[in-house]
Amino acid sequence: MQTAIYMLNHLLGDMNQTKKPTALIVGSGPGGLASALLLAHSGVDVTILEKEEKVGGRTKLVHKDGYTFDRGPTFFHYPEVIEEIFKAIGRDAHKELGLMPLDPMYRLVFGAGGHIDATSKLDEMTERIRELAGDKNAEGFEKYVLQNRKKLDFSKQCL
Ligand SMILES: Cc1cc2nc3c(=O)[nH]c(=O)nc-3n(C[C@H](O)[C@H](O)[C@H](O)COP(=O)(O)OP(=O)(O)OC[C@H]3O[C@@H](n4cnc5c(N)ncnc54)[C@H](O)[C@@H]3O)c2cc1C
Repeated sequence: MQTAIYMLNHLLGDMNQTKKPTALIVGSGPGGLASALLLAHSGVDVTILEKEEKVGGRTKLVHKDGYTFDRGPTFFHYPEVIEEIFKAIGRDAHKELGLMPLDPMYRLVFGAGGHIDATSKLDEMTERIRELAGDKNAEGFEKYVLQNRKKLDFSKQCL
């Protein structure tokens, strides 16, 4: 009996050394791509299956009637997550992806007239809202952002 267990352990040990573990990931959205990076880095032989022609899932570009729609920019408002994933595999997300902050980030155009160029600088954004929509909306916006910064700081501990 002892010999059989020894032989089995030996055999399994040999198999573990020669056979690379494999993983099949269905979908190449941010979740699938992040999992693939981490698994491949830990020595797993990863295959990704994607039903669409392009990777990126819901964050990928859409081309229509000569226009290009980038559906994923808000995904990069919290680059810490991407930085952490790349760091875990020994890479620098900024070098790999060429991330750069944009200012203005985007332009909001209102049907009732007027527009706002969105900036991540709270003071400037508050003033732009004040110009377009008055003191009450500017103060409401500032309060909303400050409250949400607090909520984000709390929730970061669970990420
Ligand atoms: C306009 C917009 C703004 C967003 N803003 C944010 C944001 O600010 N922050 C944020 O965190 N998230 C945001 N999201 C959500 C974000 O896009 C999703 O959280 C993210 O894409 C989820 O990633 P995922 O990999 O889980 O799934 P998905 O991105 O949905 O990817 C799933 C992939 O699986 C593929 N697939 C599905 N079924 C099969 C199958 N049977 N065989 C093969 N392939 C299959 C799909 O084609 C797709 O490529 C936004 C989404 C949109 C549309």
